[in-house]
Amino acid sequence: MIDRSSEREGSTHFGYSEVPLSEKQGLVDDVFHKVARRYDIMNDLMSGGMHRLWKDSFVGKVNARGRRDFRHLDVAGGTGDIAFRIAAAAAHDAEIIVLDINGEMLEVGKDRAKERGLSGVEFVQANAESLPFPDAHFDSYTIAFGIRNVPRIEVALSEAHRVLKPGGRFLCLEFSHVAVPGLDKLYEAYSFNVIPTIGKFVAGDSEPYRYLVESIRKFPSAEEFER
Ligand code: SAM
Repeated sequence: MIDRSSEREGSTHFGYSEVPLSEKQGLVDDVFHKVARRYDIMNDLMSGGMHRLWKDSFVGKVNARGRRDFRHLDVAGGTGDIAFRIAAAAAHDAEIIVLDINGEMLEVGKDRAKERGLSGVEFVQANAESLPFPDAHFDSYTIAFGIRNVPRIEVALSEAHRVLKPGGRFLCLEFSHVAVPGLDKLYEAYSFNVIPTIGKFVAGDSEPYRYLVESIRKFPSAEEFER
C-alpha cells in the first residue's frame, strides 16, 4: 500500500525531507529553475543516452502514428522531449500540448521547437493538479519523469481522468526500484555519488540532483503506483 498518512497530516516528501504539503511545489520549482538550461545535456550524461530509448519506447505506446483529429497532452513536459516525438509520429493536424508548471523549462522547449522547425506543438504553463482544459478533450495523456514531483498525485491523476476522452490513454513513465540483487547496490552507489557529482561539474550545483535521486527512492514501486 502507498503510505499516505503524512499527506493526510498536511506534509509530504521532498526527497528525503518531510515538508509541509503547501511548500513542496515551490521547492520543486526551484530545482527545475536551477537545472532548466542544462536539463537536456544532464539527461544524456546521467543515463548514458538511455533516456532517449526509454522515451522512444514509451511514445510508441501512445499509438499516435498517422492519426487524424488527434489531441495529445504531455504533462510535466519540460523541454518537450516526449511531445516532439509524438509530433513526429502524428498527422500534421494533430493538437499536441506540452504543459509544465515551470516557465523556464518551457522556454528551453520553445527554443528547441524553433530549432527543429516544429510549429504544431503548443506550450502551456499550468499545474498538473488543475488542468486548464475541458472534460473529455484529449485522446491521450503522458507524464514522463513528472508525477513524482507533483505534490498531490491523486489530484493530478483525477485531472488526467477528467480531461481524457472515454477510452483515452493515460501513460506514465517513471523510475522505479531495482529488484536485481547486486545491481541495486551498484545503482545506489551510482545514483548517490556519481549523479550529484556530474551535476556539480556540468550544472554547477549538486543539490538539485540529490533531490532527483532521493525522489526516485521515495516513489512507490510500479505495482503500488498502479494500484
Ligand atoms: N517530461 C520531461 C522529460 O521527460 O524530459 C521533463 C521531466 S522533469 C524531470 C519534471 C518536470 O515536471 C519539470 O519540468 C517540472 O517543472 C514539472 N513539474 C513539477 N511539478 C509540476 C506540476 N505540479 N505540474 C506540472 N508540471 C510540474
